[in-house]
Amino acid sequence: MSGRRIVVIGSGAAGMSAASEAKRADPEAAVTVITEDSDIAYSPCAIPWVFEGRTTWDALVMHDAAFYGKERGIEVVTETSVSAVDGEKRSVTAGDREYAYDALVIATGSTVFVPPIEGKDLENVYTIKTVRDGKRLEQALKDARHVVIGGAGVIGLEAAVALRNAGKEVTVIEMMDQAIPRIADPDMAAMVQEHLESAGIRFVMKAPIQKVNGTGKAESVTAAGTDYPADVVIFATGVRADLRIPRMLELDIGQLNAVVTAPNMQVYRRGRLVPGVFAAGDVVQCQSSVVSGPTMSQLGSTAVKQGLVAGRCAAGKPASFGATASPWVCSLEGIEIGGTGMSAGLASWYGMTPVSGKTTGLTRARYYPGGTPMTVKLLADPASHRIVGAQIVAGEDVTGRINWLTSVINEGVTAEDFAVRAENAYCPPTNMVRDTVLAAADDLLKNIEG
Ligand SMILES: Cc1cc2nc3c(=O)[nH]c(=O)nc-3n(C[C@H](O)[C@H](O)[C@H](O)COP(=O)(O)OP(=O)(O)OC[C@H]3O[C@@H](n4cnc5c(N)ncnc54)[C@H](O)[C@@H]3O)c2cc1C
Repeated sequence: MSGRRIVVIGSGAAGMSAASEAKRADPEAAVTVITEDSDIAYSPCAIPWVFEGRTTWDALVMHDAAFYGKERGIEVVTETSVSAVDGEKRSVTAGDREYAYDALVIATGSTVFVPPIEGKDLENVYTIKTVRDGKRLEQALKDARHVVIGGAGVIGLEAAVALRNAGKEVTVIEMMDQAIPRIADPDMAAMVQEHLESAGIRFVMKAPIQKVNGTGKAESVTAAGTDYPADVVIFATGVRADLRIPRMLELDIGQLNAVVTAPNMQVYRRGRLVPGVFAAGDVVQCQSSVVSGPTMSQLGSTAVKQGLVAGRCAAGKPASFGATASPWVCSLEGIEIGGTGMSAGLASWYGMTPVSGKTTGLTRARYYPGGTPMTVKLLADPASHRIVGAQIVAGEDVTGRINWLTSVINEGVTAEDFAVRAENAYCPPTNMVRDTVLAAADDLLKNIEG
């Protein structure tokens, strides 16, 4: 045995990736995962799809604690909260046990932010984060007709589509004037909103939720002075890093209110690296690959990548996360939207007003049946002409193009370079002979040249 004791707090994407990688990197280490959750190793991303019957709770959960113990040699302690961490003694307390560690990975994720309004604690008011949340909500939905969803972000929209498909009257209430705020541009989000409105989902925009009304149970929601009937209310109003454990250890918290880490996911206290302590996933802020500043990724794909790095480093092997463009994608019944790098809104947060190019083409050759319109928008830094963001709305095939453009962004390619060097494969059932991404690059170059 190497004798190394590695404790991981949290069994989400980051925690389970860290634990598995730590065991791979040092098979002799004793690896323990401690989690408040009852289910482990599942993707919360799939929860909306259970509501409309496309998958099941059982299919979501990949493995249970017994599997990890038997097959991977990893101890997983479920439904147990870590209540104390002693950085000096290097031990964590959970339930009535103390676990000594040589390396600690904090993967405590995030919690759903619910606005502090009257009625938020009424029965039939829910958030969607865990399988447990999902199962409770599923029960409540059985007798519900009107569902109000607070928040038109990606999770709110996925839930709206799923519940509309399950036959509910769905109203989405959003305080901003666009759907998918922050990560999508208003013009791109408007296409999605229009599509979902035509599918029967009601949107109420620029309307902060003021109150949930009801006696014991939610009956309606008041937003911008109007009441909307609600048998069930779901808050999908964003997530915040869960900082309970980092605060116990007095770790450095950054300007985005999340844990600051070095590229190897090691944490800091008062500006100094803390030996043997790492963090990964929704609980950390990380370096943007587009600008020299921090960003909140809070994506499952990023959590896995960071978890692998944290796990490997906890096992004493070298690894580095680097920076992220945070590519994301969302599939909403007949329409997909995805993005990477910065939106115009995010760019303005970093003090940049990007120049953009946008084109609408088709997802298949003009004469080939089944294609849909595809709109591609590219954003570039007006000073360096470097491509800093991309968004795509189409009926199909968004993910591959977003991944392609993520590499372009991470390589620091300029609009001029891209126009000269980019190439696309082609056949009629899969795209146009000149891919719409290249047509959007032409438009971007035209706008840069003014
Ligand atoms: C409905 C939904 C849909 C999503 N869809 C997508 C998608 O399509 N694509 C995508 O990339 N991302 C998606 N995400 C985001 C993605 O799921 C998260 O970014 C990812 O799960 C974060 O993983 P994590 O391990 O950092 O944190 P979490 O999954 O939040 O896990 C945190 C863990 O820490 C535990 N914990 C916290 N405090 C303690 C404590 N004191 N003691 C013990 N245990 C503790 C919790 O019990 C939990 O197990 C979605 C999220 C949701 C909720």
